[in-house]
Amino acid sequence: MDRKILVTRSSMPPYEEYIEAIKPLWESHWLTNMGMYHAQLENKLKSYLDVPELSLMVNGHMALEMAIQMMGFPEGAEIITTPFTFISTTHAIVRNHLNPVFCDVKMSDGTIDERKIEELITEKTAAIVPVHVYGNICNIEEIQKIADKYDLKVIYDAAHAFGIKYKGRGIGNYGDASVFSFHATKIFNSIEGGAVSFSEHKYYGKLYNLKNFGIQNEELVAAVGANAKMNEFCAIMGLCNLEHIDAALEDRKKQYEFYRQAVNEIQGIGLFEEKADATKNYAYFPIIVQEEYKRTRDEIYDLLKENDIHARKYFYPLTADQACFRNKYKNKNLDNARKLSGRILILPMYEGLELQQIANIMDIIRGG
Ligand SMILES: *Cc1c(COP(=O)(O)O)cnc(C)c1O
Repeated sequence: MDRKILVTRSSMPPYEEYIEAIKPLWESHWLTNMGMYHAQLENKLKSYLDVPELSLMVNGHMALEMAIQMMGFPEGAEIITTPFTFISTTHAIVRNHLNPVFCDVKMSDGTIDERKIEELITEKTAAIVPVHVYGNICNIEEIQKIADKYDLKVIYDAAHAFGIKYKGRGIGNYGDASVFSFHATKIFNSIEGGAVSFSEHKYYGKLYNLKNFGIQNEELVAAVGANAKMNEFCAIMGLCNLEHIDAALEDRKKQYEFYRQAVNEIQGIGLFEEKADATKNYAYFPIIVQEEYKRTRDEIYDLLKENDIHARKYFYPLTADQACFRNKYKNKNLDNARKLSGRILILPMYEGLELQQIANIMDIIRGG
């Protein structure tokens, strides 16, 4: 193979488009602090994601932190969450002075196992923070039932679920809030960026305030906020990329189908179950290397690496097992999560990856 293949590559608009689009900034000198492009992107994303309300953020992580902070949970409250996720999910809980309680996941799709949530609830439980991991949609109905029964908030980490519709509605309509990431490595990027979607209008003002240091007016700081504002260069990158999102998804879809076909022909390599009532965004191509396969996940990972193909072990280790969290928080039974984490591999997929390259990747996995 003639060049290095990474697990992902950032989508970018044509150079001239971006350069043309940022020119007005040299007139206005307005570079950040909720500028006009910030407002434009907020509106366009609201409509693209089909959500009633949306607040842009500097990145997905701060969006998670702000979404959790705005709920005003008491310090030390327990948050039931999944360890099978990017470290950001757990960090956002802990950095809010809350205690994560790790719940196991389902082997069938890697999302939080809703049947195991209830046994983790105590009088300290304040919320559930599930993750639509790889765009696999959680069991929204069951999670909401539990939340209603115990009066808990539900904040979805929807960083992988950009653009997905569930039962005909944007995925960001479910729960009390959903958080998206527009990081350079995600299917839609604004270089760095993120957003919180929600339906209660009062959250818009809360988030606006929190992302701007809690400043209410020139002389009043009402809350301990942070600086989580998206700047105009990033907003413009988002606006440009959004113009091309359909083509980008179309390209990914082709790759996804090609991969799927090839994997289906291999005994011992599994895929996640798909939900019939959820659309797909083709954000990732995760495979599950079963015990009976002739090679382990790590062997496949190494073999690809020798060929300059860089797959990733997302998500291994579990966040609960990371040095900074190990043995600190409740994690009774994470058997499925640990099993999955030892078998999962994300294969390269990004706009512009050629089917021939995918065929080569699959040859290496299949080979010998
Ligand atoms: C990317 C990601 C985040 C964090 O988003 P950033 O924009 O990188 O800060 C949070 N959760 C999950 C599951 C992610 O994949």
